[in-house]
Amino acid sequence: MNAGRVVIVGASVAGSRVASGLRRAGHTGLIALVDPDPDAPYDRPPLSKQILTGEWTPDRASLGDPTQWQAERHVTSAAGVDPVNRTLRLDSGLELPYDKLVLACGAVPRALPGTPRRGVYPLRTLADSLRLRARLDGMAPSGRLVVAGGGFIGAEVASAARARGIGVTIVEALPAPLSGLLGEEVAAELAGLHTDNGVRLLCGTSVVGVTGGPDVTGVELADGTTLRADAVVAGVGVRPATDWLAASGLPLDGDGGVLCDEFCAVDAGRTVYAVGDVARCRDPRLGRHVRVEHWTDAVEQADVAVHNILEPRPVAHRHEYFVWSDQYGGKVALLGRPEPGAEVTVVRAGGPRRRFAVAYHRGPRLCAALTVNWPKALLAARRSTGTPDGAEAAVTAWKSL
Ligand code: NAP
Repeated sequence: MNAGRVVIVGASVAGSRVASGLRRAGHTGLIALVDPDPDAPYDRPPLSKQILTGEWTPDRASLGDPTQWQAERHVTSAAGVDPVNRTLRLDSGLELPYDKLVLACGAVPRALPGTPRRGVYPLRTLADSLRLRARLDGMAPSGRLVVAGGGFIGAEVASAARARGIGVTIVEALPAPLSGLLGEEVAAELAGLHTDNGVRLLCGTSVVGVTGGPDVTGVELADGTTLRADAVVAGVGVRPATDWLAASGLPLDGDGGVLCDEFCAVDAGRTVYAVGDVARCRDPRLGRHVRVEHWTDAVEQADVAVHNILEPRPVAHRHEYFVWSDQYGGKVALLGRPEPGAEVTVVRAGGPRRRFAVAYHRGPRLCAALTVNWPKALLAARRSTGTPDGAEAAVTAWKSL
C-alpha cells in the first residue's frame, strides 16, 4: 500500500499518530514529520499533570521515536505551502514535495499583555513544563503564584502549586472558570474545587499587564488593582499556529483554524488534511464546523486521516467531545457538549469531598455529562449517552451509586 509522499506538519499526538498509523496500516511510501520542537513527539496531557507535579520523568510522556515508523524527522518550522505544485517550504530553506499533506501544527499559547518578563510562564511544550516545574520546586510555601486564566491549564497548574503549599491566586476573565462551556451555575459549583483547596479566585476581571523588570513582581488587573506575584502563569488560551499558511490559499477561519470537511480533508481533491487543535472540522450532527482542543478529538481525527489517505472510501470523523482534568488529587470529566439553553440536573454524592455529576439534557436526550471526583458516575453516563432516555437513565444511576 503506498499513498506516495506524506508530509506531516506537527509531531504532537495528532501528527505522530498519523505517521505511526500509516506505517501500521502498511503504507510503504515516504513519511516526513516536520516540527521545530526538538523534544517531539510527546504527549501533552501529562505536561500540566504528572510532569508538572513531578510524578513522571519526561521520558514517560514520549510518543515514540520517528525512526520506528521509518519517518524522516525535520526539526524546523514549516514556512509556506504551495498547494498547486504540492510543495512544503521549510524555515531551513528546504522544499519538500508531497502527494498528501497533513496539517497537525496545533496551537500557540496566547501571551499576556505587556512586555515579556522573567518569571512569566506559558505552558505548552515539554520545555515549558520543566521550566515551570523547576520554578515551583524552588518557590517557598510563602511564595505567591498568580495564574492568569482559570481554564484547564490554570486549574491544573493551581493544583500542582497547591500540592507544594504555594499560595495561588487565579484571575479569570469570565464570571467563573469554564462558565462559557459549562454555564454559570455549574461552573460556580466546579470552582468550589479551587476555593476548597485554598486558592484565591478572582473572577470577572482580566490580567491587563505585568509589573517588574527584569523579574516579574506582579500583575495589573482590569479593575485597576495590582497583585504581587513571585511567578505568573499565562493560561489564557491558545490560537491555531497557522500564520505561515496565510498566503497559501488554504481555507482558514477568522481565528486561524484550518477548515476541513467531516473527512478531515481541506480540499476537494483530498490532498491536504487537517487534524488536532488546528482543524475546524465539520460536524454533520451540529451542521457546522467546530474546532475542538481535546486530546481525544486529535487522536480520532488522526485515525480518520490515516484511513482516508489510504482507502478509497472515506470515513467521517465523529466528534466525541470528551475531556478530563486532574485537579487536587481528583478527576473532572466532561463527556459531550453542553448545549446553550439545555436543562441541567445536578446530583451530589455524599462525603466530605466535593463530588457531583451534572446531566445537560433536552427532555430525555442527554447532551453532555460532567462528573467531578466520581468515576462510577462517568461510567454510568457513558452507558446512557445515545440511548433515547439517556438523561433519566444517567440521573437514576447516579442516585443509586
Ligand atoms: P482556555 O481553556 O481557553 O482557558 C483560558 C481562560 O482564560 C478563558 O476562560 C479566558 O477567558 C481566560 N482569559 C483570557 N485572557 C485572560 C486574561 N488576560 N486574564 C484572565 N483570564 C483570561 O485555555 P488554557 O487553560 O490556557 O488551555 C490551553 C489549551 O490547553 C486548551 O486547548 C485546553 O483545552 C488545553 N488543555 C487541556 C487540558 C485538559 O484537557 N485537561 C489541560 C491543560 C490544557 P475568555 O474565554 O473570555 O478569553
